[in-house]
Amino acid sequence: MLRQLAKGVCTALVLATLLLPSTADAVPMNDAVPMNDAVPMNDAVPMNDAPPYAGTVYISPDVLTPVDPSDFTGKVTYQGLRFRTVFDRRDDAFVRAPVHQFLARFGCGQREVTILVNQEFSRRQARVEAQRFARVLGQIPPGMRRSVDELWIHAGDLAAGGGNGSILIHTGWFDGTSDDIPMANFIEETFLHEAAHTTLDAAPAGGGRVDRAAWRDAVAQDGSFISTYAQDNAATEDIAESYGAFAAWVAGARTGQLAAEALTIEQTMPSRIKVFRSLGPAFEIGTRQCPVYP
Ligand SMILES: [Zn+2]
Repeated sequence: MLRQLAKGVCTALVLATLLLPSTADAVPMNDAVPMNDAVPMNDAVPMNDAPPYAGTVYISPDVLTPVDPSDFTGKVTYQGLRFRTVFDRRDDAFVRAPVHQFLARFGCGQREVTILVNQEFSRRQARVEAQRFARVLGQIPPGMRRSVDELWIHAGDLAAGGGNGSILIHTGWFDGTSDDIPMANFIEETFLHEAAHTTLDAAPAGGGRVDRAAWRDAVAQDGSFISTYAQDNAATEDIAESYGAFAAWVAGARTGQLAAEALTIEQTMPSRIKVFRSLGPAFEIGTRQCPVYP
């Protein structure tokens, strides 16, 4: 269980500086850096109960599955080897180096996402990985992709990450097992979590789609956290962890397959659910509704 917990959680890519330019030198990265205007920490809000989950990525592998539809058009365009700056957990730092650059196109306005694949992959294998994860990105709600401008893909068995306009992938993370759980079954759920960091978390790390004041109120009203990971890292993980549970709740409401989990989630974080629902159907799995942005 400990290994599952350790592997089951990711960390937000929280920068200490504003708006990292893509051409910037390596920027110190610190997962412990609290975001500005953070939600109240645990001791600031009386909490009623122990969290029901360790980490919400693992509530169910059926929140989204490989057969669910994707807005990915199915093709990526190779743009060559380019010098780009990406985060690599093996170095625990931003690295500027040549990478395979692809452009992937998605429905809902034909929005484009740049996919940067480490040069350790051959050009052919890089294309395979780019298409593999572009399809998953196209499965999450279009609203949740709003701030995802790039995918960063490396080898290695290390946690995914979200924030700074990107989602970070180490392919080995999804090729193995953890506590007998095939990690490949949780790729879509991991993308939901990381996209929440990228699109919903507060700026500068996130796109700021969740109103901070509304979130603070919801946390106080709910009086508990959905996971120990959220509780232990309230400032950086509560929104992403809660969004993972919200997605499971929506899946349960739509299919009736996750009734027990949906009830637990609804009882634990009813006010947070209202905050997510206020974002509109473009942020909910299963609706495929294209958002309209100013
Ligand atoms: Zn996270």
